[in-house]
Amino acid sequence: MSAADPMLEAERVLRICSACMYCDGLCPVFPAIDGKHSFSLSDVSYLSNLCHNCQGCWHDCQYAPPHPFAVNLPATFAELRQHSYADHLWPPALGRVFRASSVAVPATVVLALLITFGLVLGTDSPATLLTAHAGAGAFYRVLPWPAMAGLAGATFGWAVIAVTSATLRYWHTIAPQVTIREIVPALPVALSDIITVRHLGGGGPGCHDHDERTSQRRRILHHLTAGGFVLSGLSTIVASAYHHLLGVMAPYPVASLPVMLGLGGGVTMTIGAVGLLGLEAWADPAPSDRGETRLNVAFLILLALVGASGLAVLGFRSTPAMGLLLTTHLGLVFGLFAALPFSKALHAPFRAAALLRAAIDSRRSTLARTPEASGDTP
Ligand code: SF4
Ligand code: SF4
Repeated sequence: MSAADPMLEAERVLRICSACMYCDGLCPVFPAIDGKHSFSLSDVSYLSNLCHNCQGCWHDCQYAPPHPFAVNLPATFAELRQHSYADHLWPPALGRVFRASSVAVPATVVLALLITFGLVLGTDSPATLLTAHAGAGAFYRVLPWPAMAGLAGATFGWAVIAVTSATLRYWHTIAPQVTIREIVPALPVALSDIITVRHLGGGGPGCHDHDERTSQRRRILHHLTAGGFVLSGLSTIVASAYHHLLGVMAPYPVASLPVMLGLGGGVTMTIGAVGLLGLEAWADPAPSDRGETRLNVAFLILLALVGASGLAVLGFRSTPAMGLLLTTHLGLVFGLFAALPFSKALHAPFRAAALLRAAIDSRRSTLARTPEASGDTP
């Protein structure tokens, strides 16, 4: 997308769509713009994150190029999504880092790797990286537990604080008047839409991965990636409980709960991220935005590396390669946490917020049509 002012372009395109409404039924964006003739910054920020980039409205659009209206809603929203992430990060310097995220994400990961290797080498001789370590506590003979837990806690805590503050600022932009009494009853619908990624179905048949044909590939790969990330997180939590509550130190047997969760998470996250990278490479660039594509690719490569390096640690943990593989994996994990606030990871809470507002709006219009449902009738 190349419009000089993406906000003006969004208003222009959304006015055309609002008058046309041919794509009503493809996704929640169209019911949300039905009957609207002007679009504020809040509206546009909300709508751009409500779009799941299924590209259905690009392939169905009768006003897409070469028509002089040149409507390209997926590319318009893709550019605006990046503005919405950068504009809500705090402090503002973090927004500037986000705008350079295709460099900042790899640079952060390299820095995290250097720090992790520096700590390992500063604690012991270089030979520790290529020495077989066995038995309980073997991982902590490579990187002592206080250093491992300290780096993990610092980077994860930073990610939670920065992502939460950006999400709350975004929510204030898109839903300034919404009360908690409206949020609670809308949560089940919003949670269902978030977990199932229903709208990646493009109204039913799926996404357009490359051309006018549709498939469920993107939705399935998205589930694998997100599910793998969650399983890997659960594995870390369970391992922590083993360590602190049961007094049993890693590495754990293959048949133990932390290893089974980590194995399932590593395999599914790696397959999902590599598959999504394949779809990025195959995608039609016309309804995309190069900035968003770079953002996606940087994040997916990082997820794939984290998943694959975790599997390598598991596969070679009783060999002399364990120290090198474990240090690399930990550096990648710390780099992932540190880079989360200025990576594509922001799309998860921002889209969740947009889906919650959509569920609230939908409930409001249902109550307006059937006032007895609100309990306000005599
Ligand atoms: S994307 Fe095109 S066809 Fe669909 S509602 Fe907008 S203008 Fe109409
Ligand atoms: S690309 Fe898909 S999700 Fe986005 S506005 Fe078009 S139909 Fe809706």
